Order: sequence, then C-alpha cells, then structure tokens
Amino acid sequence: MESACSTTANADIAARIRTIADYPKPGIQFRDVSTLLLDGPAFRTTIDRLAALVNPAEIDLIAGIEARGFIVASALSYALSKGKVMLRKPGKLPGEAVGIDYALEYGTDRIEMHVGHVLPGQRVLVVDDLLATGGTALAAIQLLRNAGAEVTEALFIVDLPDLKGADRLRARGVTPIALCAFEGD
Ligand code: AMP
Repeated sequence: MESACSTTANADIAARIRTIADYPKPGIQFRDVSTLLLDGPAFRTTIDRLAALVNPAEIDLIAGIEARGFIVASALSYALSKGKVMLRKPGKLPGEAVGIDYALEYGTDRIEMHVGHVLPGQRVLVVDDLLATGGTALAAIQLLRNAGAEVTEALFIVDLPDLKGADRLRARGVTPIALCAFEGD
C-alpha cells in the first residue's frame, strides 16, 4: 500500500507524520501524528495553516473529538480565540451528557458532550486529526446538530481520500478541509 502523501501541498507537514503498518489491525495504515507533535515549529505551522483555512467570523465554537482531535482543536481554539467543546469517549464527562454511537474504520465507538454547552444556532467547527471513513466526524456533526448547532465545515490535518469520508461529509452539507492527503487506507 502506498504510504506517501498524495498531495504536494503541505508536504512538509505530511513528511512529519509517521505511518505504522497493520495498526491497530492488519491492513490498516495508521497515520501517526504523534511524530508531527514532537516538532514544535512544524506543529505551530500546522495550526497556523489550519487557522488560515477558516473564517473566524463564521465560527462561534470549536468542537474537538477525543483524543487527538483535542490537541488540534485546543491549539486552534487558542489561535482563533474561540471556545472549545469536548466531544468525549463514553463515561468521561462529569455533567449530564448526550451521546451518539457510530461505526469506525476499525470497530465501533461512541462520543458524548455536555448538555447545554452547545446552544441552538451556534456555528460550530468540527476538528479532528484525521478523516478516514467519516463515521466519527458524521457522529460529531449529528450530535451537534441534535443540539441545534449549525455545522458547515470540518477541519483535519489528514484526509484519507480512498476511504471516501470527505464525500460522506459533503453529502451531509459539511465541507471537509484537510491540510494533506494520504493514498491508501
Ligand atoms: P473515521 O471515523 O473512519 O473517519 O476515522 C477517524 C478517526 O479514527 C479519527 O479520530 C482518527 O484519529 C482515527 N483513525 C481512523 N483511521 C485512521 C488511520 N488510518 N490512521 C490514523 N488514525 C485513524
């Protein structure tokens, strides 16, 4: 399976993302952003470029998906001076929570958020490290829309176009934005 970044745009960022074959199960090419996070200037550049791809005037709140999405969303929240809502794994939130179950590229999962932390009409930007099948982002979008939020954009460092997550987001009225793409799954 091809492991190189399929785009020349942001190739400097893509070069810092390590690929681990057959993790967490055979056939999966895990695009590991932990190596990018080790490089301070490269991570700062990543956040600066992501921030430049959105219009802060059209965003009321940033939604970060646990766990790697929190890292990207928090830095972006700082860069754009926007609040951040945490979309967490089940059972982690101390207050009253609502959740949604979804299918992953490898297994199933669930995300939850605090009741009342996203208000009807708020424009929420969904943020995660990587877009694969789109199941996670779509669950986040549905959870936020259930609370009355408007979600029109989702931001990622990496897209895996072969897994068609971007198409699924577009079909639900959300524009996916990613810095770089990797071929294969
Ligand atoms: P999906 O719901 O299929 O779009 O998967 C996206 C979520 O799973 C993100 O939170 C990613 O961190 C993680 N993920 C899925 N596939 C991969 C992969 N090949 N490499 C790294 N992370 C992945």
